[in-house]
Parts: sequence; structure tokens; C-alpha cells
Amino acid sequence: METEVTEQFFRENAYQKQCSANVIASKENVIVLDKTVFYPLGGGQPGDTGKIEWPGGIATVVDTRYGEDGMINHLIDGQGQIPAQGTTVTAHIDWERRYKHMRMHTALHLLGSILQYGVTGGNISAKKSRLDFDMEDTVDKESVNNQLSKLVAANHQVTCRWISDEELHSQPELVRTMSVQPPKGAGNIRLLEIEGVDLQPCGGTHVRSTAEVGNVRVGKVEKKGRRNRRVSILLDQ
Ligand SMILES: [Zn+2]
Repeated sequence: METEVTEQFFRENAYQKQCSANVIASKENVIVLDKTVFYPLGGGQPGDTGKIEWPGGIATVVDTRYGEDGMINHLIDGQGQIPAQGTTVTAHIDWERRYKHMRMHTALHLLGSILQYGVTGGNISAKKSRLDFDMEDTVDKESVNNQLSKLVAANHQVTCRWISDEELHSQPELVRTMSVQPPKGAGNIRLLEIEGVDLQPCGGTHVRSTAEVGNVRVGKVEKKGRRNRRVSILLDQ
């Protein structure tokens, strides 16, 4: 087999909703493709759902996960048909759900730029997302909410780029400006930049500019221990 890892279109273009692909392997509950638009669970962002279609068949994807050796597993509900190895298929994500994840994910970067504390956890869903901060201070919810609205309205550009370890070493000032330090010796690192707001390594999917985040607001602020404040954000539909 020549393919070693699934080609991942969502890395370069988060807005791609479908792609043509070949079936590398399939069994009752899993389809593996040579390339995909489906984002696998990771970095607090849920795996995509959607459909895989081929002439005479359709399968419902209920979740997407990394398998071993970098392949991406499309988990199937087990109700419908399964395409045979070698079949050419079209993979479609549930775009409405994914786009909300992109808006939420970008909003969490904004939240992290407002509350500049260590982040110890996080989770994204279409309706409610959260970050856990390593902090003892109280959170001024109203103030955070206002700053969040301003960052959205300012329509900052959001871009991704890859950088090698060598480039990173030759630009120490870049590392200093990052809100989260990159992993050492990772080879190539994907950087997410919100112009003038945030720069950090991130593998998730984001919107192109902060205006697309739309109507988000701060929900609950919970004290989850002496040094843990859990801040939730809600997406108004
Ligand atoms: Zn991100």
C-alpha cells in the first residue's frame, strides 16, 4: 500500500465540504479512505459526521477518529451498506455542524487572548464550548463578554501556516509571541494566527476572519477548584 496517512483536506481548506476518495479498507463499522474532508476528534474539537456515497450505496458517518498509523477512521452507524475496498466514493461532511465547530473553535482562541492564563482543558460543541484556566482571580464576565464582542466585530484575519523546526529556531521572537509554546522536535508545526490577537500551534479548523464567529457570548463561569476557572461560551443561532 502506498498511502501511509490519509490525505487531510481540512488542514489546508476548512471550508471544503466534500471530496472524491478511494476506499483503502472497510469493515462493518469503519471506512478508511485515501483522502478526506472529515476532521477527526482532537484538540477538544469533535470528529465530523456526514455521509459517504458511491454508485448504488450510502453510509452514514456518526464520528471520525484517528486510527493507528495516522489513518483516519470514518465510524459508520452499522445500518447501511459498506463500500468494498477500491471503490471510488464521495465524502460529504455535515457542514452546518462543522461550521459551528469552526466558529466556536475560533471564539475559544479569542477567549484565550482575553484571559491570558494557562489553559488546562477545553471542549468544543456546536452550542456550548469551554476553556479551563489555571487562575485564582475572579472573572469579570461582563468585561470578558464586551472584549469578545469587540474582537469579533474588528474582523481580524485568521490564517494558518506550516513552519519547520529550523525556521522556528531561526526566529526566537516568534516563539516568544506565541500564547502556547510549540512542541519541541515535532518537525513541521501548524501555526494558527489571528492577526494582532493570537498566535499558537493548533491543528483544528477555524473560520477565515473573526466576524464569521458571529453571535457568541460568555455563559457560565464556574469555580472548579482553587486554581481552576471554567469559562463557557454560547453560540446564538
Ligand atoms: Zn485552533
